[in-house]
Amino acid sequence: MKLLIIEDEQGLRENITTYFNEDGNICENCSDLTSAMDKLAMYEYDCILLDIGLPDGEGFAILEYLKAKMKSESVIIISARNSLDDKIRGLNIGADDYLTKPFHLAELKARVVAVFRRKTGSNKGLLVFNEISIDLQGRAVAVNDVAIVLTRKEYEMLLYFIANKGKVISKTALAEHLWGDEIDMHSHFDFIYTHIKNLRRKLLDANSRDYITSVYGIGYKFKAE
Ligand code: CA
Repeated sequence: MKLLIIEDEQGLRENITTYFNEDGNICENCSDLTSAMDKLAMYEYDCILLDIGLPDGEGFAILEYLKAKMKSESVIIISARNSLDDKIRGLNIGADDYLTKPFHLAELKARVVAVFRRKTGSNKGLLVFNEISIDLQGRAVAVNDVAIVLTRKEYEMLLYFIANKGKVISKTALAEHLWGDEIDMHSHFDFIYTHIKNLRRKLLDANSRDYITSVYGIGYKFKAE
C-alpha cells in the first residue's frame, strides 16, 4: 500500500514511517498542511494518516480538500484530541476512521488494513479476485489456493492492479506508486517492465488467467474480468 503520513510530531512521524516501510509499504510523509496539499495535488495514495493539530492549521482542511477534488484516498485521523465533536466532525467530512493518541502501531496497522479492505470490498482481510487471493495482513498471495512467492514490488504492483482493475495505468503512475515521489521516473521504467514480466510469469506459472496487458505507448491494464 502507499501511505501519506501527515504529522508534525517528528518522532511519531518517523516511527510510523519506519514501521510501515519495514512491512513493505511505500510511505511518504509531511509535517504541515501546505506540503500535504502539494503532495495530494500531484500524487495518489491508498491511505492517509492525518493528524488534526498541525502548525499551519487543522487537519480537517485535508478532508475538505479531498472532498472538493473528489479524490478517493482513505483517511484515518490520528489525533491527541479525544473529543467526540472532533471525531464526529472528521467522520462527517469523509474520514474513514479515528484513532486517539497514544496508540500502538500494530493497532494503527490493523485499522489501515481494515480501511483498505472496506475500500476494495474484501472480506476478513482477504482480498479475492477470481482465482487470486491476497491476505492483506500477512501480505501473502495465492492462486487457486496455492501460495505463490512475490517480491515486495511485485506484491505492491499486484495490489495496485487489482485495486485499479479495468483501468489503464500509466507507467508514471506505477512508478510513483512503487517508488514514491523521490525518484527519477524514467530510470525506473525498465524496472517496471522487469517487475511486470516477473509478476505475470509467476501468476501464469500458477495457472492464473492472463490479466496483465500492455497498452501501447501508455502503460498497462489489469483485466477486470
Ligand atoms: Ca500535531
